[in-house]
Amino acid sequence: MRQRRFEGKAALVTGGGTGLGRAMAEAFAREGAAVCVVGRRQEKLDETVAAIEAAGGRAIGLAGDVRDAARVEAIMRETAERLGGIDVLVNNAAGNFICPSERLSYNGFKSVVDIVLLGTFNCTRAAFESLRERKGRILNIIAAYAWHGEPGAVHSASAKAGVLAMTRTLAAEWGRYGIRCNAIAPGPIHTEGTDSNLWSVANVEELVRAQIPLGRLGEPDDVARAALWLCSDDASWVSGAVLAVDGAHHLHGGTLNFREAYDAFVGGMRSAP
Ligand code: NAP
Repeated sequence: MRQRRFEGKAALVTGGGTGLGRAMAEAFAREGAAVCVVGRRQEKLDETVAAIEAAGGRAIGLAGDVRDAARVEAIMRETAERLGGIDVLVNNAAGNFICPSERLSYNGFKSVVDIVLLGTFNCTRAAFESLRERKGRILNIIAAYAWHGEPGAVHSASAKAGVLAMTRTLAAEWGRYGIRCNAIAPGPIHTEGTDSNLWSVANVEELVRAQIPLGRLGEPDDVARAALWLCSDDASWVSGAVLAVDGAHHLHGGTLNFREAYDAFVGGMRSAP
């Protein structure tokens, strides 16, 4: 029988219209949570809401840009009013693209850092009162390259490393309110976006798969099930932790073996990093 660990609770998932965010939103709803999904494209949010409702769950979709603090405040207020509060905040929204650092525009770097790092702070700050009232949980979706770096992703790796520091800081600072703050570092996952932009390029998928000890790329549900556990009472004394959900890729992949995949991706650069 399916567990209902989030009955009577509300979860807000940024970037919940697509990919891992959608999988997590649907998973929280399956276990009884009322869910708010946030992103810029209302039509993508509507798709998640429709899928949750079709499965018998409750969801709303509020469009907004996580970089816009005033809009984020309004979204948190409306979510608390309509869903009764916020018990779980999942900071998942992100922008990313692979680009050699020497070609990355100043604005490209800023844009990714603003979405990932500033956006995570905006949402977390704006949800604080609700989270304090409900002894809530924050889950930040980072990436293993926050630890080991990633050629071609200096913007995202820098931002995710900042979110990792934020995770640990808030676990220490807000533990006094009963708020838990953790992170998941997903490895390479099949999503609509990565399938069309990353894994379909040259032989990148094959090269990456060869670096993963468990022998396969991840699926969104691999991350969703870990997210449920970390945000549930089953993990009631876990805070400040980062859970790698990556088939041990960070131990045997990452930058050490990345050069070949990176070169395949950027199409044979003249000067590899
Ligand atoms: P995705 O499908 O591209 O999802 C990103 C989501 O963020 C989209 O729904 C997007 O919706 C939203 N978003 C982007 N900018 C936003 C903004 N300014 N304000 C509000 N929402 C915004 O990516 P994904 O693969 O599912 O990734 C989800 C998370 O997992 C990200 O944090 C990513 O870094 C992390 N991750 C993914 C992988 C992987 O292999 N897929 C690996 C490691 C880590 P709109 O465009 O409609 O705003």
